[in-house]
Amino acid sequence: MREEVVGHSRILEFLERIVKSERMPHALLFSGKRGIGKFKVATLLAMMYLCKTRDACGSCKSCKSIGKGVHEDFKVVFVPDKKKNISIEDIRELKEWTYVGASSGGKVAIIDDAHLMSIEAANAFLKTLEEPPIGTVFVLVTPSPYKLPQTIVSRCLNVRFQPLTKEDIERICEIKGVSGLKRKLCLMSGSMTFLDYEDKTISKAFEIVDRFERGDYNLLAMLDDLKDEALMELVLFMIRYRLNKRLKEERDKKLMDVHKELTYLEKMFYWSNVSYSSLFEYLFLKVVL
Ligand SMILES: [Zn+2]
Repeated sequence: MREEVVGHSRILEFLERIVKSERMPHALLFSGKRGIGKFKVATLLAMMYLCKTRDACGSCKSCKSIGKGVHEDFKVVFVPDKKKNISIEDIRELKEWTYVGASSGGKVAIIDDAHLMSIEAANAFLKTLEEPPIGTVFVLVTPSPYKLPQTIVSRCLNVRFQPLTKEDIERICEIKGVSGLKRKLCLMSGSMTFLDYEDKTISKAFEIVDRFERGDYNLLAMLDDLKDEALMELVLFMIRYRLNKRLKEERDKKLMDVHKELTYLEKMFYWSNVSYSSLFEYLFLKVVL
């Protein structure tokens, strides 16, 4: 497992130290860009903490069960649909799980995309943190720590992940056999966020963004494709990437307007259920006119 993590060597050394020091905090907050391996490191931390030798040896019963996702003292809370919240029921269930005696002397729960906790869920979780169950370690993972209540953040040991270096990304691409446009995209985003995207989605996104920038009206006939959320996410990322690059060179008024509209569209896309193809059309017209 240790060798599966690329980069973040200082964080790994730090975590190894605290696990072995027997002064493990009740809660840690892993923050940093999406797609750089925070969740993988959180799983490795669980392995170290629950491993017989505190080493994440990979061969003891505990390490193997975590690898298979069947360890009873290891739990992951997450929402498959990023537009939904982690509910208060999810947190209640987590809390109940902490009450059941641990078979390996400790428990680790990862809350992935922790910023998706509803207000009620966050309040319930805060109460758990105020009286933490002994031996349980919570690892909150999020790209957006500022969306979490400060009261929760201040009760966690904050571990900030740096973006992957170009060399790290190239190594991951090498290991996973990623090439072509996908490799280019990983390097552009400084993360592996788009690793699971299909090639046809990626080439379509490039086509849309090129048409968008050329102000090609044929793009309007493609708006229906943007109902595909993965495609829309990629298109937004690429437009944002190219726009930021241009804004570094010139702070022209039109670019600033596009920046404003794009920020609004991103917010709508991630945080509401409005039809974003019409917002995209509006953004496009802003570029053309
Ligand atoms: Zn082990």
